[in-house]
Amino acid sequence: MSIEGHSTAPGANVIAEHHCCVAGCAKWGGLGFAPSKTVETHWWCAHHYPFWNRIKDISSGSDR
Ligand SMILES: [Zn+2]
Repeated sequence: MSIEGHSTAPGANVIAEHHCCVAGCAKWGGLGFAPSKTVETHWWCAHHYPFWNRIKDISSGSDR
């Protein structure tokens, strides 16, 4: 049973459950990334999410 998935918006929960894709990690995957729309989205927990640097580059692009 999951408390998640009770949105009133139709189609908002196409993916009902997605956990961190790292083997052995059973945390909830709240951060998703898909290289293209034809590829299945991979999900990570905040600890394993590999794209933090990319987010930093976007948010603070004046560093270089
Ligand atoms: Zn994880």
